[in-house]
Amino acid sequence: MKKIIFLKLTIYLLLILLFSTSFTNCRKSDNENKEENTRETQNYDDIKEKKSQEDESQEKNAISKTYSKIIGNLDLSKDEKDEIMKLLTKIMNLKQENVSANEEKISKLNKDLCDLLNKYTLEKFEGGNTRLNKLKSYASLYKDVSQNVEEFFNITTKSPVFLIKRSKIEPFDRIAETEYKKNNKIKNAWENVKKILPIERVNKIKYFKPFGVENKTHTAGYITTAEDSKINDANQFVLGINVGLDCDILSYSLIHEFGHFTSLNSSQRDGKYKDVFSYKDAKFKENSYINLFYKKFWEEIDEINKEDESVYLFYIRHSSEFVSMYSSLNYVEDFAETFGHFVINNYNDSDGVKEKMTFLNTFPEIVKIKNEILSLCKQNNIHPSSKDTK
Ligand SMILES: [Zn+2]
Repeated sequence: MKKIIFLKLTIYLLLILLFSTSFTNCRKSDNENKEENTRETQNYDDIKEKKSQEDESQEKNAISKTYSKIIGNLDLSKDEKDEIMKLLTKIMNLKQENVSANEEKISKLNKDLCDLLNKYTLEKFEGGNTRLNKLKSYASLYKDVSQNVEEFFNITTKSPVFLIKRSKIEPFDRIAETEYKKNNKIKNAWENVKKILPIERVNKIKYFKPFGVENKTHTAGYITTAEDSKINDANQFVLGINVGLDCDILSYSLIHEFGHFTSLNSSQRDGKYKDVFSYKDAKFKENSYINLFYKKFWEEIDEINKEDESVYLFYIRHSSEFVSMYSSLNYVEDFAETFGHFVINNYNDSDGVKEKMTFLNTFPEIVKIKNEILSLCKQNNIHPSSKDTK
């Protein structure tokens, strides 16, 4: 009996003990929770502060990176730098608000930034007036859009259309049929294409439009999507070439145009062809040549370039980064010119150009195309060279 009572007592004691322990535990955990909560809040505040510090330093880094890219080869004083940094910070803040209403303000600030950079460029230009005027006149040639558009319109709409099929050309419209029969220039021009560009690759371009059969023109060649009054095939391309040019002169233009085709064809883009000169609309695939090229060489300078009406001042500031003045027009032309230079490589490169050559060298397919073109040219005794200013 005593045993039972003892046992019972022990059980009670145990129960009390257990209860009290759990009670204290409970109280303890309440306190701990509170402490943890405070700790968590503190941690959260720390993280928030750390994050905003990180954001701030990221923002500063982005501004400094943009600054060093947009000034190109300009050597600026502290005050000049501050003035540019002030504008860049304003632009960055507006961009972060991410509202479309800011677009106009951003564009206006980019224009101010561009004017400021152009002012410094002119002040610091050391090439002499003759070179300055020469560059200016080259730039005006490129910018004389009204004249070019008319000429280009005549070339693209009036010339005969051929289909490129298994290394041959077939007349696509009536003029092509009659012109092909009576004019050897077209046949020769097609043979010349095959002497310079690897035909298996050219076969992927669907249409061929030889021009200059009757009227002489300054345009050597072009590549564009197949959208005009005769063909409505927007995801396909047209190669146009001037039939009046000999192979040496034609070759560089063809290589340049093939650089466009390589970087703009449908394997490089998502969805239907859009305005390729607007990076936002063009929908290049993440790993496409031109997207990677843009991210590496154009992301920070594109907006200033678009605001710049003078062209030559932008070029002077960045001349060491470009293979020619023409390539400084926009990232699409820069890719084609850089590709052309990569293939023919006929002068010593500046560091900026070397970087672009190294970039293209990382793509085995581009290197393959280069070797194919070079061996064809060698085989056919053709010597491509770029005649642009450098
Ligand atoms: Zn071009």
